[in-house]
Amino acid sequence: MKEVILCKYGELVLKGANKAHFEAMLVRRIRQRAARFGEFAVSNRQSTVYIEPKDELCDMDGMLDSMTKMFGFNRVAVAAVCEKSMEKIRECVHEYLPRRMAGVKTFKVEAKRADKTFPLKSPEICAEVGAYILESVRGIRVNVQNPERVVRVEIREAGAYIHFDQLHGAGGMPIGSSGRGLLLLSGGIDSPVAGYMMAKRGMTVDALHFESFPYTSERAKEKVLTLAQEVTEYTDYMYVHIISLTHIQEEIKNKCDEDYFTLLLRRFMYVLAERMAKKCHCEALITGESLGQVASQTLEAIGVTDAMVNIPVFRPCIGLDKEEIVQISRRIGTFETSILPYEDCCTVFTPRHPKTRPNAEYVAAEAAKIDFDALCDEAFETMYTVKVTPDGFEEYDK
Ligand code: ATP
Ligand code: MG
Repeated sequence: MKEVILCKYGELVLKGANKAHFEAMLVRRIRQRAARFGEFAVSNRQSTVYIEPKDELCDMDGMLDSMTKMFGFNRVAVAAVCEKSMEKIRECVHEYLPRRMAGVKTFKVEAKRADKTFPLKSPEICAEVGAYILESVRGIRVNVQNPERVVRVEIREAGAYIHFDQLHGAGGMPIGSSGRGLLLLSGGIDSPVAGYMMAKRGMTVDALHFESFPYTSERAKEKVLTLAQEVTEYTDYMYVHIISLTHIQEEIKNKCDEDYFTLLLRRFMYVLAERMAKKCHCEALITGESLGQVASQTLEAIGVTDAMVNIPVFRPCIGLDKEEIVQISRRIGTFETSILPYEDCCTVFTPRHPKTRPNAEYVAAEAAKIDFDALCDEAFETMYTVKVTPDGFEEYDK
């Protein structure tokens, strides 16, 4: 019995002229990803990608799970394939379903006839295949209203496909279809979610992390890289650029009004991020900010930081409650790492009374007490890059 993985496009079906280009990109990505799970043949027809194992050694479960984390698909399933004749379909049902559907009490059949030359129409296929299932799976009944399993029969160009366990895909658009963004990645809950959300819209995501060694530890940095690694289950790889803010933080602490510490620091972060974005060809910044969540995320504070840069800043979490962000982070698998108790550069020297409604003139006067440009140049010199993949991370030298 031959099995294949079927991955069905989501929004990609709506794309006009660019569709073929995005499809080719997606197929290339799948081929690269498949290498972790064995040798597969990957092809696409009729808004579906077909993934066929070339031998018995292929890890089909691993590949299937991985395809539920590939942006661009909204349904993923393992299907049995056979020739397009009712006789072969009957044989296939008899061989494929009894063991896999043992214990299932109710079912219905849905048929789709993409190949219109097939002699039976969809309702006739449903009736026939329903009868095959009743004769081969013990104790099963038809329930059209509320079946435990929906058995789907698809008559397509290359054959007939039978499956009964369609999984949700990751949705979104294939990565690479919406440019490149630079994620400001901290060790918190929100920024990994923000990166995931923009990757889901088709962005290639690079990350920038600010450390503050020795105020932040090596383990804090590893936590951030682990978060990036978790996100790469969806994105395949991520370049994480790391810049040290140590000297900047010391300068602000020694020379400026304590209440403005966070705000002043965030101006540096944004400006350095814009500079980094230019360097790594990113056309937007991405942050995990959520309106009103903390003092530095009020409308006024966001306004002050935004005014520092000349690049779009995407904040996909802006309208989400913490609870909603937590839900996504649990689903994508970053939550447990995010709550590990390591310090972040933003939490060292935290002011006791951070400004929620900063006065722009006062901010400017405080900022003038330090040499902004020189400090930026110096911080930028500390930059280095780590390449992160689902298998781990290593320093990247290019
Ligand atoms: P998160 O959960 O993402 O850390 P947060 O609720 O802790 O967010 P802040 O610490 O105010 O909020 O940070 C707001 C955003 O600023 C973060 O979502 C992230 O995009 C960015 N940011 C904060 N700290 C860092 C850092 N050390 N390096 C890079 N970006 C950071
Ligand atoms: Mg944080």
